[in-house]
Amino acid sequence: MNNERNNGKEELLRISNLKKYFPASGDWFAQMFDKRQVKAVDGVNLNIPTGDTLGLVGESGSGKTTTGQVIVRLLDPTEGKIEYKSQDITELTGKRLKNLRQEIQMIFQDPSSSLNRRKTVGQMVSEPLKIHNIVGRDKLEEKLGEVVESAGLSKRFLNRYPHEMSGGQRQRVGIARALAVDPEFIVCDEPVTALDVSIQAQILNLLMNLQKEYNLTYLFIAHDLSVVKHVSDRIAVMYLGNIMEVSDSEILFDNPKHPYTQALLAAVPKADPKSPPREVLKGEIPSPIDPPSGCPFHPRCSSKIGEICEEKNPEQITVGDNSLVSCHLYPK
Ligand code: SF4
Repeated sequence: MNNERNNGKEELLRISNLKKYFPASGDWFAQMFDKRQVKAVDGVNLNIPTGDTLGLVGESGSGKTTTGQVIVRLLDPTEGKIEYKSQDITELTGKRLKNLRQEIQMIFQDPSSSLNRRKTVGQMVSEPLKIHNIVGRDKLEEKLGEVVESAGLSKRFLNRYPHEMSGGQRQRVGIARALAVDPEFIVCDEPVTALDVSIQAQILNLLMNLQKEYNLTYLFIAHDLSVVKHVSDRIAVMYLGNIMEVSDSEILFDNPKHPYTQALLAAVPKADPKSPPREVLKGEIPSPIDPPSGCPFHPRCSSKIGEICEEKNPEQITVGDNSLVSCHLYPK
């Protein structure tokens, strides 16, 4: 089942039973003896309508970033299907993959490491323009100016190097690089996590304004629920490579159904100092090399209802207000 709720909008992206496993051992010699696998993404189903933002949340190590990297085809999936505009892009290669990369872009978490320290902003933003032949040489300067300005930087930044800019300005360069090729879909991978709180709102507002202006569709990855609430139409909660719940943003916050979603929300700091202390989600996320049997959340779940939780991974079902939940508390 997918996170169906398109409200009449055309579907842009659909992923079905997506899996990404990595060898547990780093080098090929060790892999001859160690056949274990890291199940980073383990059967994810999601869909995103055109112009929407799907938030993808979960603790560190839940597989969110790997999911994003597989969708933009920086990584090849182990299994499953990725459809973009109803076309199967799971195994695209060569020129067709290059063409797809013009439409699907990614904004990375850490602008310091995703930018080349030896290149100016102009050189970095012009790279995708040249690769995809977006403009001729005579129009390059003009296009560069337009792109950096749409990301909230003045043209004088075109001659600057990353070390001459603040974290927020560097992230604007990352956004400008993604925008340069006129994409339709952007995977935003924790785009404000590395930034000061005071700058986070500016970048979030920029991303939302750009979405309206260019009818962009986002997969917005974050571990901070308050950040995804701000930007998402619908939110998917991920745990240990699996999707636990998918709901409309407001419904997820007002009426969370999955025990993991409830635990994540309980841990969000409250603005009111008189509110009761935060509940802490007990234990660590288990190793994806040897995930728990049955429901992946069962070793940490305070609502566990018995052996079924340890034996059977619950199917995703639709509950009430069109939320999708994978939990035995909700019978089929
Ligand atoms: Fe908890 Fe069982 Fe639901 Fe898993 S299936 S979240 S262990 S109640």
